[in-house]
Amino acid sequence: MIQDVLIVGAGFGGMYGVYKFRGMGLSVKAVEAGSDVGGTWYWNRYPGARCDVPSLEYSFGFSEELEQAWEWPEVFSAQPDILDYANHVAERFDLRQHIQFNTRVTSITWRDGDQVWELGTDTGETLRGRFVVMATGCLSVPNKPNLPGAARFKGQVLHTGLWPHEEVSLEGKRVGVIGTGSSGVQAIPELAKQAGHLTVFQRTPVYTVPANRKRMREAVQQEFKDNYREIREMQWRNAGGVSGFRPLKSAPSRANQPDVGPAASGVTGIPGGDSGGGLRIKAMTPEQREQVVEAGGLGMILAFRDIYSDIEANDIANELFRSQIRKIVKNPEVSEKLLPKDYGIGCKRQVLDRDYYDTFNRNNVSLVDLRETPLDTITETGVQVGSDHHELDVLIYATGFDAMTGALVRANITGRDGVTLRDKWADGPVAFMGLQMRGFPNLFTVTGPGSPSVLCNMLVAIEQHVNWIADCVAWMRENEKATIEPLEQSEIDWVAHVNEVAEGTMYTVPSCNSWYLGANIEGKPRIFMPYVGGLPRYREHTDGQAENNYPGFEVLG
Ligand code: FAD
Ligand code: NAP
Repeated sequence: MIQDVLIVGAGFGGMYGVYKFRGMGLSVKAVEAGSDVGGTWYWNRYPGARCDVPSLEYSFGFSEELEQAWEWPEVFSAQPDILDYANHVAERFDLRQHIQFNTRVTSITWRDGDQVWELGTDTGETLRGRFVVMATGCLSVPNKPNLPGAARFKGQVLHTGLWPHEEVSLEGKRVGVIGTGSSGVQAIPELAKQAGHLTVFQRTPVYTVPANRKRMREAVQQEFKDNYREIREMQWRNAGGVSGFRPLKSAPSRANQPDVGPAASGVTGIPGGDSGGGLRIKAMTPEQREQVVEAGGLGMILAFRDIYSDIEANDIANELFRSQIRKIVKNPEVSEKLLPKDYGIGCKRQVLDRDYYDTFNRNNVSLVDLRETPLDTITETGVQVGSDHHELDVLIYATGFDAMTGALVRANITGRDGVTLRDKWADGPVAFMGLQMRGFPNLFTVTGPGSPSVLCNMLVAIEQHVNWIADCVAWMRENEKATIEPLEQSEIDWVAHVNEVAEGTMYTVPSCNSWYLGANIEGKPRIFMPYVGGLPRYREHTDGQAENNYPGFEVLG
């Protein structure tokens, strides 16, 4: 059987794809490597995993019934609650009947004669479809660095992005964690509570600010529910896909954190997802800057507008940040090691934490600075760093992901004339609006490189992409067109535009080595992958293409 649409992945992107294409009366099948829905929230079950976008915003907007039915327990929900939400969506819309689980797509090949895509799987099946939608996720391929001696370790080895489904008992154990990005920072305080002793192996210190920890108040949730249509519109108009809606009618909360807004500072983990704020750090005296932080917390440093594009302002903010951490971490030697010094705020995805710095005041936690003394080798019983051997029962990798391109390249996609995506992207991803690649007709990517994706509330980005792809497929069918793919020039122009808008931001300064740039993966070309121009500007491009019958694409009948 030839499916109208084959979807790879059953995270939020694949789930919404199934709902959308089925609703159009098309035959649709999704294939998922995991045993159930949820994607990110299915795989990342490590202690402390949670959202850095308020849950009332990090939720689907396509169904009013869903919006009204679902109750969020916290302002920023934890992984189990987000996974419950994914399960609820799957059940409410009866999606699982269209999803084949426990199946990894291992090859995707264009058959020009029949104008179909053929998908090979690790279960030995071949699936055929007219259109393919890659909903494989931007952060779905865990990165496990090839550390010397790693295979020798006899204890338990875990990765935050592949956390076991069964309970992991760390009680009384000597636990080591490598990595201090968002995953490590979320996990470390929880691991410290559970482990006998926790050793943190840090290569690059992080800038992290306290997350909002409030329980959801019923009145606030109700006000969101009463205003969801307007709120979804506000999300579409915001650079980071976050509405910034503040409840007006609900009695104000007595706690010092807002009811919907993100951290004490009023910022999310999303650049541009902030509700704004006109503060400029350079225009203030040192005393005024201190006062801002004292009044609003550490996260207020992120609200200064000028720090994201002005290096001098950024340096002032970095120093202000460091001065605050010195006050929290009691041991000055440990404190100095925790201070980022060779890159600035705004280069990497902003990290939000719960008691990260305080955790280093515990007497069962030690910090190993791998910049000071590099890791020599992993042994049978631990990690050797210089003359110190750290004995461990459990070693946890919180070492991130081969982001944005990893899952797409690994799916072994071969387009027209035998050209592979791996080859096409050898020097970095080339795509039109992060939605399609020339040479790969009728194959679409959800939140692909060159789209706002990871710089956005991703549920909003996912809905926008799936809607655009569905409209395109509907238009193709109405107009009896067989194939669509971008013009070569469209790709060239788009990549140039993506680079142009990223230039001059903190994301691309030479000192910045983020996964946005592929800098976390050895040998990966250094290219800034997401679109930093913001969701509204991006939508002008995507909507413009659809409204004008896809002038940037080659459409064959
Ligand atoms: P995913 O959820 O990654 O799903 C992709 C699915 O495709 C996976 O289940 C994978 O198994 C499957 N797959 C991939 N390749 C294949 C293949 N070849 N064959 C079969 N199946 C395949 N975003 C935010 O906006 N806010 C947040 O607060 C936030 N927090 C995050 C926290 C963590 C720990 C991580 C890792 C990411 C976070 N993100 C966040 C980003 C998150 O990935 C997205 O919000 C969203 O869940 C992505 O959904 P998706 O469906 O696009 O991809
Ligand atoms: P990450 O940000 O890439 O961090 C990986 C960490 O591992 C870094 O500290 C890195 O150090 C370290 N590392 C990698 N290779 C190493 C090596 N060979 N030796 C020593 N250290 C090594 O990955 P992540 O923390 O999983 O986060 C990835 C993204 O997922 C986030 O940016 C965010 O978008 C999303 N996420 C979000 C949340 C949330 O709050 N909602 C939580 C988790 C993840 P270097 O910096 O030196 O490379």
